Amino acid sequence: LSKSAAKKAARAERYAATKLERRAKEKAAKRAKKQERALKRAAGELDSDDNAAEERARHKKRLRATTADGATHPFGGRIVLDLGFDDMMNDKEISSLCSQLAYTYSVNRAAAFPFRLLYTGLSGRTFARLERMSDAGYKRWTHTEWWHDGYDRLWKEDPDVRESVVYLTADADEELAELDPGTTYIIGGICDHNRYKNLCLNKARDGPIRAARLPIGRYLAALSTRKVLTVNQVFEILIKWVELRDWAQALEHVVPKRKF
Ligand code: SAH
Repeated sequence: LSKSAAKKAARAERYAATKLERRAKEKAAKRAKKQERALKRAAGELDSDDNAAEERARHKKRLRATTADGATHPFGGRIVLDLGFDDMMNDKEISSLCSQLAYTYSVNRAAAFPFRLLYTGLSGRTFARLERMSDAGYKRWTHTEWWHDGYDRLWKEDPDVRESVVYLTADADEELAELDPGTTYIIGGICDHNRYKNLCLNKARDGPIRAARLPIGRYLAALSTRKVLTVNQVFEILIKWVELRDWAQALEHVVPKRKF
């Protein structure tokens, strides 16, 4: 190990070791904020930001109240991140993709209704990069599973499973109406700056499995029906839909109108 690599490993180890501590700190900070708002409320000094924060907290609590133990309650649905495009990206794109993967995990962890996350086709530079990030922190991500195999392993043992798998891609003709907890949705783990048209659609056709796009044009008239979003945007829209059961709100949350 070189000196800098050893330093980096030590830093990652320290970071991993203090995870619980950091989580406890986050919780304490949240509690302090809540208390602060309670004081403000008593004094009649709540502003619109405070009100919005309160509403969000209430909303999340209402959702969580549906499970007896108050624990985060999985939607039951599964999302596959198909990492089978390693050789189609340059190093910079691989590194953006890996950051997006870390983001999907953290959004999932914080969600009222997390998905089960399955990352398939882990290989090459994507694999190497994840191994280097935070001392292979991905191995400790909760609610995640990692396969070196491709997602077709899903139906190798049980051919019936294939019918419940849908590849998400902007190029599909079919539009998603809603998400179903019994369906597995695949997101293409690729950052290609729109270089490869129909890449995922063709992969779905090879499967063959169903392909569907998000109902973007229907709800965000200002965006093209086939607007290509990033992995993390798509993931966040799905997470939001499960929470709100409303495409317009889920889309607006992730792609706010003021941004285009
Ligand atoms: N050229 C790639 C685009 C990569 S965008 C392709 O062939 O699809 C990364 C991933 O986000 C896509 O693979 C797809 O799973 C998802 N995605 C992006 N925009 C989408 C949309 N409008 N509807 C459904 N899925 C979308």
